[in-house]
Amino acid sequence: MTVTAAPGLPLVLGVLEVVDVHRLSPSFVRLELGGDCLLDLGTDGPLLDQRFKLVFPAASGELPDFTGADESWFATWLAVPAEERGHMRTYTIREVRGSGLDTRIVVDVVLHVADGEHGPGSDWAAQAKPGDRVVTLAPRKGHPFGGVEFLPGAATELLLVGDETAVPAVAGILRDLPADARGAAFLEVPVEGDFLPDVIAPAGVELTWIARGDAPLGQRLHAAVVEHLGVDGVSATAGEVAAGEVAPDVAPEDVDPDLWETPSYSSSGEEVAEDPLPHEGLYAWIAGESGMVTGLRRHLVRGLGVHRRQVAFMGYWRRGVAMRS
Ligand SMILES: Cc1cc2nc3c(=O)[nH]c(=O)nc-3n(C[C@H](O)[C@H](O)[C@H](O)COP(=O)(O)OP(=O)(O)OC[C@H]3O[C@@H](n4cnc5c(N)ncnc54)[C@H](O)[C@@H]3O)c2cc1C
Repeated sequence: MTVTAAPGLPLVLGVLEVVDVHRLSPSFVRLELGGDCLLDLGTDGPLLDQRFKLVFPAASGELPDFTGADESWFATWLAVPAEERGHMRTYTIREVRGSGLDTRIVVDVVLHVADGEHGPGSDWAAQAKPGDRVVTLAPRKGHPFGGVEFLPGAATELLLVGDETAVPAVAGILRDLPADARGAAFLEVPVEGDFLPDVIAPAGVELTWIARGDAPLGQRLHAAVVEHLGVDGVSATAGEVAAGEVAPDVAPEDVDPDLWETPSYSSSGEEVAEDPLPHEGLYAWIAGESGMVTGLRRHLVRGLGVHRRQVAFMGYWRRGVAMRS
């Protein structure tokens, strides 16, 4: 297998080949990706919602060449003409299989079947077959990479919410939680056939799957989470839920396509928590389409007055907007 590993870099940057493809459901395809560069793959702790990058081939079918890449690899890549550099997208490491030179990353990719909108990542995954090649950027043993946002601190009650793009992350978090964890997880997917049987929660965390069907994206999910929290909310200290609130009701211009509000980072420039580790009580981790996440953020932060230290809101994608890199 040919690899363009970059041994000097604090991350794994190299070519992977599709080893196996498994169509899990109408909206998910599971890919197993292998390559010699994964010999150096490693994270500090459990995978949880560990993110990584894939670079898909350009329209010509060619992958960008990262041979000899150094610290300026990103700027060098961006300087390549857009039609030649391929497309970089973010995914979740669903699982790591094997070891040594046989290490493989498992990734569950959402096929954008329902909306009729297609991106290069979804298109590539839909047609992937063993032997197809893709570039990865992934955590390297012994080097900080970041990319895990689930940091519950001393929280005693969990709320995990995601649409289909966050199913792999929620699945990883549920798998890695301690057996005595308590809370609830809500996952909205396009159709009932997308309820994945290998997403397993500890006994104290109730997992609810929601099929979107014909409803607007996130509407059923929003209603279920609002109902779960109730007017008092698990750790609410202020505010009230509007009577009968069931839909996000968020104007498109109010949605930040790069929404990323965690206890230690704010995409909108808000002051982050001085003490960013969640205290006792509720910790909410919410990811998916940015409009859906914005609606739930309003409900939790403005409506229920939950402290920003206790919440992580992540826009994984924005309807109608292709990812920038
Ligand atoms: C931390 C993180 C982890 C992620 N993990 C995963 C993961 O494990 N699996 C996964 O599939 N995705 C995951 N995503 C989301 C994924 O990066 C985006 O969906 C991305 O836009 C897909 O790229 P694309 O080339 O297919 O579409 P793009 O070129 O980015 O977009 C093209 C068009 O498709 C639309 N679109 C994009 N995504 C979707 C979607 N899911 N459904 C319907 N329409 C869509 C866009 O709105 C746009 O109109 C993750 C994102 C982040 C930030």
